[in-house]
Amino acid sequence: MVGIRVPLRKFTHWSLEYRRRIQTRKRLERRIALSPSESNYFKRLEQEGMQESAGRMGGVVPVSITTYYLNLVGSEPTDPLRLQCIPREEEWEAGPLETADPLSDQTFSPVPRLVHRYRDRVLLLVTDQCAMNCRFCFRRHFVGKNQGAIRQSELDHVIQYLKEHLEVKELLLSGGDPLTLSDEKLFALVDTIRFSRPGIVLRVSSRMPVVLPSRITRRFAYQMRNRQPFWFVLHVNHPRELTQEAEQALKRLADAGVPLLSQTVLLRGVNDEVGVLEELFRSLTARRIKPYYLFQMDLAQGTSHFRVPLDRGMSLMRELKNRLSALSLPTYALDLPNGGGKVSLIDPPRMIEGEREWIFHTPEGREYRYPKE
Ligand SMILES: *Cc1c(COP(=O)(O)O)cnc(C)c1O
Repeated sequence: MVGIRVPLRKFTHWSLEYRRRIQTRKRLERRIALSPSESNYFKRLEQEGMQESAGRMGGVVPVSITTYYLNLVGSEPTDPLRLQCIPREEEWEAGPLETADPLSDQTFSPVPRLVHRYRDRVLLLVTDQCAMNCRFCFRRHFVGKNQGAIRQSELDHVIQYLKEHLEVKELLLSGGDPLTLSDEKLFALVDTIRFSRPGIVLRVSSRMPVVLPSRITRRFAYQMRNRQPFWFVLHVNHPRELTQEAEQALKRLADAGVPLLSQTVLLRGVNDEVGVLEELFRSLTARRIKPYYLFQMDLAQGTSHFRVPLDRGMSLMRELKNRLSALSLPTYALDLPNGGGKVSLIDPPRMIEGEREWIFHTPEGREYRYPKE
């Protein structure tokens, strides 16, 4: 008797989707017709590569796009999702103050992979790999340089440092995208950190829910739930990134009880319009994600075509403040160059120190008083 044919479920493990991401011009061109500017980027890449111009190549972020994300990309060269993942020739133009390490991560790194800039919190560069490499990436000296995931010997030094620095109360898992690691590796790392520093508050920053939503399995969500306090910080830049698949992935996290925040980079041609940002932040709150940061772009090498002038950012923010609740409004922040740290750019009202009170002057020209003691 012939066996009953069980129909194959249409199911691909996320790691297969991850490994099949598009990393060459050839594979990209099979799916999309490159614009002249995009095509010129690759021509220049070939030339620079042949001349091994090490200085320039140090700031080059390799192409990496999931097929999932590429399917969302429009055919217009100015499509906001397209701009984020397909390089243009402007990436070869380094602005006067732009560098591959604009925040001086390296200066604030007491041991490899760790950045300690603020007294009570540290950032751990778990891996240099991402499912999708953003063309405006600010960690250009690190991302996609094939160092891969943190090694045991590196982790030993990190753990030693955390044990010696009890003033550190929070740790951010970043990179690269920590979720490119398997659950086994990622949660083993988390457990090692938690074992040596019980109670430490953890965060993981990831773009996976919007570039490879299948990565957020129910199992992953429950593993995170079992390791609270552990916040999930989503990097999302455009309302169109919040597809049904992304929404399901984020729902899995929220339903499991994982607290969710978002961060967005203010990008020219992508989201530098008040309506786009308003829609994005409202969609996030509706999906149980608190918009945490809107970032002014860092001075990363070859990203000036994405930069929105600071005063334009401030005026967008003022308009958003009129439209949105504090729940839906993120903090507009700039990470000062050379490791100056983050500063909020939301305009504080003018405050004058009186004898017994603070006098607030609102933008509308009104005056309010609040006692000093
Ligand atoms: C942004 C950042 C943090 C997190 O601090 P927040 O108060 O959440 O902004 C920690 N360490 C480094 C190096 C950072 O850049």
